[in-house]
Amino acid sequence: MAGLTLKNICKSFGDLKVLDDISLQLEDGELLVLLGPSGCGKSTLLRLVAGLESQDSGEIFLGDRRIDHLLPRDRQVAMVFQNYALYPHMTVRKNLAFPLKVAGIGRTETEQRITRVAGMLGLTDKLRQKPGQLSGGQRQRVALGRAIIREPSLFLLDEPLSNLDADLRARMRLEIVKLQKKLSTTTIHVTHDQAEALTMADRIALLCDGKLVQVGTPEDLYRNPNSIYVAEFIGSPRMNIVEAAVRENILTPFGLPVAEYYLESEGAGLKVGLRPEAIEIKAGGEFRAVVNSCEYLGEQYVVGLAYGDTQLVVSGNRKPYQPGDLVTFTFDAENLMFFSSADGTRLR
Ligand code: ADP
Ligand code: MG
Repeated sequence: MAGLTLKNICKSFGDLKVLDDISLQLEDGELLVLLGPSGCGKSTLLRLVAGLESQDSGEIFLGDRRIDHLLPRDRQVAMVFQNYALYPHMTVRKNLAFPLKVAGIGRTETEQRITRVAGMLGLTDKLRQKPGQLSGGQRQRVALGRAIIREPSLFLLDEPLSNLDADLRARMRLEIVKLQKKLSTTTIHVTHDQAEALTMADRIALLCDGKLVQVGTPEDLYRNPNSIYVAEFIGSPRMNIVEAAVRENILTPFGLPVAEYYLESEGAGLKVGLRPEAIEIKAGGEFRAVVNSCEYLGEQYVVGLAYGDTQLVVSGNRKPYQPGDLVTFTFDAENLMFFSSADGTRLR
C-alpha cells in the first residue's frame, strides 16, 4: 500500500504540450477522480504513471520509491482501459490467471486468488465462459478482476464505464467505490463525466488543456470553484454566468447592494455566477422575468428565464411553465459568486 506523488510532470507530443507542470499527491488508499473534457491529457497522465509513456520532465513516486524509470511490470501498478482489452479466445478463468502467470505466481496461489476475486466480482459462475459470451458489464468486471488479482499498490482506471449504458454505469460506479474501499488501494479513476466524478471521488482533480485547474473534494469544487471554468464544469445544469458591473455599491443586473470587498473591481468588467438550483420561481419574488423554455426531466422541470437582457436557467421546479409566462423569482444573495471577466478567476 502506498500513496502516489507526481512532481512537475511535463509531456509534449511534437509541438503539442499535452501536460504542463502537473504536481499532485494521492494519500494511501485514496480514490482520486481525474476529470476533464476529451483531449485534455487524462489518458496521457495515466499512461505516464503506468510506464506506457515517458515524461519529458518531472518525477513520479509510489510511496517513497521513485518509479518513473522502471519498466511497467516493475511498478506495482495495474491499469484498466475503456475497451476492456480482454483476450477473446481465453476463458474468464484464463483471463484472470494470465497476469499471475506472467508474474510467475504458482498454481495454488493462482487458484486461491481467482476464487477470491471471482467471488468479489460476482463472476464465479462465469469462469468457464469466454468474453464474447458475457454482457458489457460482466466484461468490465473481468477487466477489473484482472487488475485486482495482481494485488497492485495502485489502480489506474481509464474511463472504465464509458462503454456501458446509463443504468449499468450508475450501478458500476457504486461497485467500484465499494471495491476500492474494501481493498484500500490508491486509485486514479479517469472520466469526462462530472456526475461520475461527484459520486465517486474522495477528491477530484480537474484538468483543462494539460493543466490542473483545481483539486479538492467534490463539495469543494461544487461550493468553492476557483474559476468560471470549474464553476461551469461541475454541476448540472451548468451554473448561470452573467455579465455584471458594480457602480456605487450596486450590482447590475439584480440591483443588489454589494459588499465592500468587491469594490476593487468597481467599474471594471465582472461576471457573476448563480447555480440554477439556487434560484426559486415563486409568487411575490423580488425579480420579474419571462419564461423562455421549460424542459421536463421527470423529477423536475428546468426553466429558462429572461430577466431583462439576462438569461437564467432555474432547476428544481415542481411544476411546468409555458413560454411567455410572466413569473417572479428570488435567490439568496449569498449564493452569488464573483469572477473576473478578464481571466475567469474567482474574486473573493
Ligand atoms: P484525454 O484522455 O483527456 O482525452 P489524451 O491524453 O488521450 O486526452 O490526449 C491529449 C492530447 O494528446 C490529444 O490532443 C491527443 O491527440 C494527443 N496525443 C495523445 N497521445 C498521443 C501520441 N501518442 N502522439 C501524438 N499525440 C498524442
Ligand atoms: Mg482518454
